[in-house]
Amino acid sequence: APVIYWHRQDLRLDDLPGLSAASAEGEVIPCYILDDTPSDPWGPGTASRWWLHHSLVALSEQLKERGGKLLVLRGKPEKLLPKLAAETGASAVYCSELLEPAARQLQQHVARSLEQAALVLRASPGTTLVHPEYMRRPDGSFYKVFTPFWRKLRQGDIAAPTSTASTRFWRGPLTSLPASEWGLLEGSRDYSAALAHPWQPGQHGAQQRMESFVASQIHHYDAHRNAPAKNACSRLSPHLHYGEISPHRVWHTAIAQGPEADGFLSEVAWREFNYHQLYANPDMPEVALRAPFRDFPWLPREDLFEAWKAGMTGYPLVDAGMRELAQTGFMHNRVRMVAASFLCKHLLIPWQWGARWFWDQLVDADLASNSGGWQWVAGCGLDAAPYFRVFNPIIQSEKFDPQGDYLKQWLPELSALQGKSVHKPWLTPLLAPDYPAPVVDHAEARQAALAAWDTIRTQS
Ligand code: FAD
Repeated sequence: APVIYWHRQDLRLDDLPGLSAASAEGEVIPCYILDDTPSDPWGPGTASRWWLHHSLVALSEQLKERGGKLLVLRGKPEKLLPKLAAETGASAVYCSELLEPAARQLQQHVARSLEQAALVLRASPGTTLVHPEYMRRPDGSFYKVFTPFWRKLRQGDIAAPTSTASTRFWRGPLTSLPASEWGLLEGSRDYSAALAHPWQPGQHGAQQRMESFVASQIHHYDAHRNAPAKNACSRLSPHLHYGEISPHRVWHTAIAQGPEADGFLSEVAWREFNYHQLYANPDMPEVALRAPFRDFPWLPREDLFEAWKAGMTGYPLVDAGMRELAQTGFMHNRVRMVAASFLCKHLLIPWQWGARWFWDQLVDADLASNSGGWQWVAGCGLDAAPYFRVFNPIIQSEKFDPQGDYLKQWLPELSALQGKSVHKPWLTPLLAPDYPAPVVDHAEARQAALAAWDTIRTQS
């Protein structure tokens, strides 16, 4: 009898433990289920759906080359999977174990509904390098601080990637929903068009990114990773989110480069740390992990939020980042930190608003890393930046983009500004007439942020 492999955020065939296990039992029916009315409040956003569309196309093509076919269905997985099993005589359903709260709940629903048909759901770990259950501290609790977590991860044995070359696919007749009916591209722009380094969703694109990063960037990563104009980072995040490359493949490929790769590995460990935190705190996307921050006196100002979203705050590094995000579905990590900090500290807008916007706009939107990133910036995460350290967006810009190359790439209004003046366009308004004046004064905003923090600091 065949077996079903239910793809979700694992749109690859390489190093997929669940697929290896499935193929040991029989010929595989790979399927993906689009759920238009998911009970998940964090269903994929606009940019993420664009990525998903192209990733599914890539997986379909890859399967075709291997003699298989991706079955795309629309509906509720807990209804469709038992039905598909009945139609094909499949003996089991396999998948990767996801760690997001709604995905974990769905796994339970699906397992229960399969059970009623005397079938099992076999979920294999692999979303993270180590399953959170195997990464507890000696007292049984989960890590709350990154450095000891990273040390433990670095010293541990990370499973080596495996091949699925021997997998055979079922050739029975099945009707798949055509790509034109997926509806994933509605309301989205073509994110690949505006890019110097176009995205290539899918396993093949992920492998090429990894290879070119290792060949030409990893050795300069530590020196340049904070400079947004330098193209020093891997841009693997959307590929990792949709599981087009496994974290194990990334880890082992990087380790093989020698100790120089440690800086990069420690960033991959932040992804891991975020997943473990989300697993331990399912309300992390909405609720501050540090309790006093739940009473923080935010100022939910719509007009300032709109200026931030549009990249019109008058602070060049913030605005360049927000424009990069709108056009490419991506933002450099250093700029994410500055733009996010500006929203929560200079504008005092709740971090959850920013997290929602990023969720909709990022091609790499990932519940663990987005919530973790925002909580870190807002100072309310477990191992977060201390609240009183307010990023100065002007100094950050001068330090990490001294020539203003990144600023000018995304802010054409500043093209006439020379030298250092690009960091402070308000000093030469006649040279940048289309660029807005700062929406808030840095020094005043900083004082207001510290005063707001004062109201909760005795408890934090
Ligand atoms: P590289 O520097 O090449 O790093 C390699 C990989 O390590 C990344 O692909 C990513 O998987 C992981 N990584 C790197 N930095 C971080 C980090 N600080 N935190 C967690 N993982 C990291 N990352 C997402 O993948 N999805 C998100 O939705 C997301 N939202 C964020 C929101 C905010 C406010 C902040 C400050 C950060 C966010 N990040 C998010 C983390 C980080 O910005 C991106 O992972 C990184 O910029 C991706 O670029 P890269 O692949 O070139 O990274």
